Amino acid sequence: MGVPGPVPVTRRALYARYPFLPGAELALGGLSPTSQELVSSPVHALARSLGRERVLWALRPPGAAPPPEEAPAADEVSRVLSFQYAALLVSLLPGSVPARRWARSEALSLEATLNDPSTGAEEVAWVAAGLGEEASPERGPRGEEVWPVPLVRYLALAPQVKDRSYRLVHQPLHRGSMALPRDRFARLLGERLTETLTDRLPLALDGELKEALLSREDAFLQEARARAPAREGPAGGPVDAGRFPPCMSALQEGLARGEHVGHLGRFALASFLHKVGMGPDGIVDAFRGAPDFKEEVTRYQVEQIRRHDGGEGYTPPECATMITAGLCRREKDNSRGRLCADPALLKHPLNYYRRRRREGREASPAAGKEAGGAPARSAGPGTPP
Ligand code: SF4
Repeated sequence: MGVPGPVPVTRRALYARYPFLPGAELALGGLSPTSQELVSSPVHALARSLGRERVLWALRPPGAAPPPEEAPAADEVSRVLSFQYAALLVSLLPGSVPARRWARSEALSLEATLNDPSTGAEEVAWVAAGLGEEASPERGPRGEEVWPVPLVRYLALAPQVKDRSYRLVHQPLHRGSMALPRDRFARLLGERLTETLTDRLPLALDGELKEALLSREDAFLQEARARAPAREGPAGGPVDAGRFPPCMSALQEGLARGEHVGHLGRFALASFLHKVGMGPDGIVDAFRGAPDFKEEVTRYQVEQIRRHDGGEGYTPPECATMITAGLCRREKDNSRGRLCADPALLKHPLNYYRRRRREGREASPAAGKEAGGAPARSAGPGTPP
């Protein structure tokens, strides 16, 4: 079964459902405003209001009430523009957390639309093509709708999905493709959208536009900041390598000396550095000393780790796994109270870092100082400020 013909809804209505697709702005024709007009003109008040709701809904606390009903009833132009306005708003917020949450929220909404029984297979194929994932529905052995996804694309998108049933080993492989039911295909498209949006953000805002947004959106910004603090990683603030657990310090030092570090050790270090708030450049730099270092490959692998689960990233292995793999270096622990000494009390390298950060703050309230006033040790070149 191929794509049999034109999509049976108007072009603009279609883009109102999928405003992130290339061509959405063109579909507005002469109704497409400049960014400055979108921010300032009274004509676009509804689009701005819907845009604020898009972002605040994405940043909602767990268990919050369902999203407002207003959006589906709004006119098509306002719905397309609300997406563009939301992208501007997210770009004003500090840190990467708001952008990631918003991207994931848009992806969840996309998945719900694609799984809706009223959404035809032709429309799903059109959206997939717009996201760069060409596919045509076929019939499975029982006549059901299935979506063939080439193995190489499955391997690129599925690792981001937390659900273990998406692992390659559980998928039927037929002539180099996976035949997925619609809900699974929609899930992969959701991952594709998350990746696309997080790549695009933050948008570059020129001075005048930023000024206009800041003066108009003061109340929104306060609420958004309260819902999603900019800090990343469990401890916040600059990464403090002086408080890393001995296992992670040993991995870093081994790589810097040009020693070979196995797959689990590399994964543990990269995911640990991500979780404590280090940016991608800093993580890649940590691997530069490896004997087989290839920047492009390392960057790709670091991105896979960072983007897992809608941008939350993988969690490093717990102490028990590190011990089994021979990566624990508890004998080198010289922290106050020997945190690594008691396996009943310390189960995870991230907890070591959190506790030592907390101790540091209690000992010296001055940010960036170790107890006694010495400057905190830097995580090394490439570490984000
Ligand atoms: S006890 Fe845990 S945190 Fe400490 S060195 Fe071993 S694996 Fe790392």
